[in-house]
Amino acid sequence: VLVATLIACTNSQNQDHMTNTSEIDKKVDSLLSLMTLEEKIGQMNQYNGFWNVTGPTPKEGDAAEKYEDLRQGKVGSMLNVRGVEQVKAVQKIAVEETRLGIPLIIGFDVIHGYKTLSPIPLAEAASWDMDAIKRSAEVAAAEASASGINWTFAPMVDISRDARWGRVMEGGGEDPYLGSKIAIARVQGFQGEDLAANNTIAACAKHFAGYGWAEAGREYNTVDMSETLLRNTIFPPFKAAVNANVKTFMNSFNELNGIPATGSSYLQRDILKEEWEFDGFVVSDWASIAEMVPHGYAKDTIQAAAFAANAGSDMDMESYAYVHHLKKLVEEGQVDESLIDDAVRRILKVKFELGLFDDPYRYCDEMREKEVIGSKENHEAVLDMAKKSIVLLKNDQNLLPLRKEGQRIALIGPLAADKNSPLGSWRIAAEDNSAVSVLEGMKSISNSVTYSEGCRLLAGEADFVWETAINTTDKSGFDAAKDLARSAEVVVMVLGEYSFQSGEGRSRSNIDLPGVQQELLEEIYKVNQNIVLVLMNGRPLAVEWAAEHVPAVVEAWHLGSQSGNAIAQVLFGEYNPSGKLPMTFPRNVGQIPIYYSQKNTGRPAPVAPNQVFWSHYIDVDNSPLYPFGHGLSYTTFEYSNLQLDDNSFGKGGSIKVSVDVSNTGQRKGKEVVQLYIRDLFASVTRPVRELKGFEQVALQPGETKTVQFIIDEEMIQFYTANKKWEAEAGDFKLFIGGSSVTSLEAAFAYTDK
Ligand code: BGC
Repeated sequence: VLVATLIACTNSQNQDHMTNTSEIDKKVDSLLSLMTLEEKIGQMNQYNGFWNVTGPTPKEGDAAEKYEDLRQGKVGSMLNVRGVEQVKAVQKIAVEETRLGIPLIIGFDVIHGYKTLSPIPLAEAASWDMDAIKRSAEVAAAEASASGINWTFAPMVDISRDARWGRVMEGGGEDPYLGSKIAIARVQGFQGEDLAANNTIAACAKHFAGYGWAEAGREYNTVDMSETLLRNTIFPPFKAAVNANVKTFMNSFNELNGIPATGSSYLQRDILKEEWEFDGFVVSDWASIAEMVPHGYAKDTIQAAAFAANAGSDMDMESYAYVHHLKKLVEEGQVDESLIDDAVRRILKVKFELGLFDDPYRYCDEMREKEVIGSKENHEAVLDMAKKSIVLLKNDQNLLPLRKEGQRIALIGPLAADKNSPLGSWRIAAEDNSAVSVLEGMKSISNSVTYSEGCRLLAGEADFVWETAINTTDKSGFDAAKDLARSAEVVVMVLGEYSFQSGEGRSRSNIDLPGVQQELLEEIYKVNQNIVLVLMNGRPLAVEWAAEHVPAVVEAWHLGSQSGNAIAQVLFGEYNPSGKLPMTFPRNVGQIPIYYSQKNTGRPAPVAPNQVFWSHYIDVDNSPLYPFGHGLSYTTFEYSNLQLDDNSFGKGGSIKVSVDVSNTGQRKGKEVVQLYIRDLFASVTRPVRELKGFEQVALQPGETKTVQFIIDEEMIQFYTANKKWEAEAGDFKLFIGGSSVTSLEAAFAYTDK
């Protein structure tokens, strides 16, 4: 009977390869009816696959337990198994040795590419180019799936306004509107049109919710926030991911208002599964079920398992909580079996949609693995993404672009020849030292580049992943670098963070240039002021001295495999930069959290000269170093002729806004035209500006284009005092420009009628 049912499942899946929801539901139900409680719980268990599966059978310890559980059908998913050979081997055990032969779903952190690396997600966000971001996720999916993987733990859509938190590198920045657009682009890129195709993978919106708000920017720390903040700022990208049909969610390590997110039925059941009607499954974060014990919420892992299952965490990543305790909890009536059925249904459904029942080895094709991973086409795609991610922060005296010939260029800095750091954090499958360095990139374009390291960034070798980075204090390389700088016309300095100075577990209390880099910069400046500072980092940095003194500053983040080529093409003007900051750069760490969509307060600005009692610091200006949305070009843009076709609208209505954007410089370029709205008074106070639209326009020198936006109710809705997502009647302002601070403005009203 079992075999016949499974064959029936397989056959009809074959005929109807695409996801026919009700067909799949029927198959899921028929499979579920065959499963014992233990087998169901097995589907809810995910193990890290750390042993060499094709090697000798593990005899003791964790690996032996996992291996035995796998053979007994007590494992539904594995993560970190990579390569077709390894995936095939674990899949074979699941399919051939377990009673029901249910295939595993193989997960992996494909965060910004698999082996061919794209820029880190924060960098990609700076492109504001949704087609490019989608394409980058497609490349990542193509490579990961060619390696046997069917599911990525991405995109991370946590909004964060705290650059101390190391994981800002992995998200879309500070803004919920931009973050939502990126969430959609990335989900679509990973999952494609047809999830069952062998080059697409299931996506995972994480970390639900509030993780980016860890107190003091300290990793894994407590989060306490109002429903207003949650609904207006944190939830939108998650909701957008659900609307884009994301297949899975990951919950979060943090507690939210006293309840660990993993044990929160408010988040996982009330909001996600009921209010938003999400029909995929939720995976816990790594051991986050067990972590409810040290949180001080569950008394032991048994209770933690009950809390998590009842709250709607469908799959347990590495806590061993479900596999060890859930059966007994169901038998004792502490967890209702209907909740287990619901979780298993969700998991099986995604497996059917991925086509795993059709052919469990469909992602295991050695030929494709060889052809797709690292292909020329993939490198071209990540190079394109890398160029689009670069932000020109400052360019006084038009120091940039550099001349390819006839200009003596000194390249200095610990990151200038580094082939590892540009790969960024989260690149488990990529080869170390596989990035094109800035030195290599520049030398491939010009013969007049000379190089001196100046100083090291770290005291030890920078090839470790988990060790805490110790910055060096060694300045012995300064003199040689100064000599080189003295003899050059222009100095390009590549400074910033080593790849693992940002990322998970890499919070910093100071977000300056680590080590002796600031000193090196100031020493070089003494002998040559013509400095182009190229920043390579995973978070906004507080580089106020540089912003004041150095004529040109380029934000190059960690740009992935093609880093050096992308940077060189921008420096030499082969590519005109168009990136805009997705996160505010503070002047100093004390300004954090600093973000453009702040509230006004009752005392926004001094009412009289020398007034003390207004919302400010006495030792630093309120303004950021570089605002959200800021980014220059080698050409210049002018905005004019802002027009509204009406000055008010009512229910169901809208206003058409148009603005002319002209390229007033000498080169063709792209500009991101940004629309912000301010709600002047409301039942809950509103931010001074909120991004509500943007459009990228490409302009030839002298060309003008008219850009249009439609203002409608959706744009002015928010979570009101009525506890509803709605538009309130009132007066508004709109701003259109090339950043969150420079803009034309106009007024309009919404009448609610
Ligand atoms: C991270 C997740 C990640 C998981 C699996 C956790 O430490 O928080 O984002 O997907 O590990 O590697």
